[in-house]
Amino acid sequence: MTFENLNLIEPILRALQAEGYTKPTPIQAQAIPYILEQRDILGCAQTGTGKTAAFSIPILQLLHAQPQQNGPRKIRTLILTPTRELAIQIGESLTAYGKFTGLKNTVIFGGVPQRPQTDALRAGIDILVATPGRLLDLMAQKYVHLQHLQLFVLDEADRMLDMGFVNDVRKVLKVLPEKKQSLFFSATMAPEIMKLADTILVNPAKVEV
Ligand code: AMP
Repeated sequence: MTFENLNLIEPILRALQAEGYTKPTPIQAQAIPYILEQRDILGCAQTGTGKTAAFSIPILQLLHAQPQQNGPRKIRTLILTPTRELAIQIGESLTAYGKFTGLKNTVIFGGVPQRPQTDALRAGIDILVATPGRLLDLMAQKYVHLQHLQLFVLDEADRMLDMGFVNDVRKVLKVLPEKKQSLFFSATMAPEIMKLADTILVNPAKVEV
């Protein structure tokens, strides 16, 4: 299996080559085709398996295929993740894999001044990576508008629950457009995780490593 076999576009193949990636990891080989078909995903994968690239690469490809209208960029993808460290890492991955696509991302998380984050939001981005608390905060202040959202990722759902973010996640879900593609990743699939997944996903493809 190669990245070429996964029908990735040239700007992304070039970026992966620059990263030194020679072949997809198992979670990438499984998930990328489904995501490109615009299926919802229920993914069981730990950190370290290449999970971030498994969702980031096809998201960049889907967004690249649908150029934005004129005017400021609108958020078309939201990636929710439980910690600042994960959020930063996802943002760096999107920037690296997307560097020849022209797509823009920004990362928002709590515990730091909001001004640089709101400046980035105002400039216009395609992909927002966020932890739940700061996202709700900036949504309440009308810095984040999600009515053009096409793709939603819930990363590390089990840690999200362990950290007590489930109500925050539900509040975010309530304002997302009904019609969207949703990708759900968790290292474990305990009953309460499956219950949350059921409220988000429609006929998901299951991927597991
Ligand atoms: P993750 O599971 O998303 O935290 O990724 C674990 C690490 O694997 C990261 O440092 C990635 O840069 C790296 N990685 C992801 N996919 C590949 C790949 N196909 N080939 C080589 N390294 C990869």
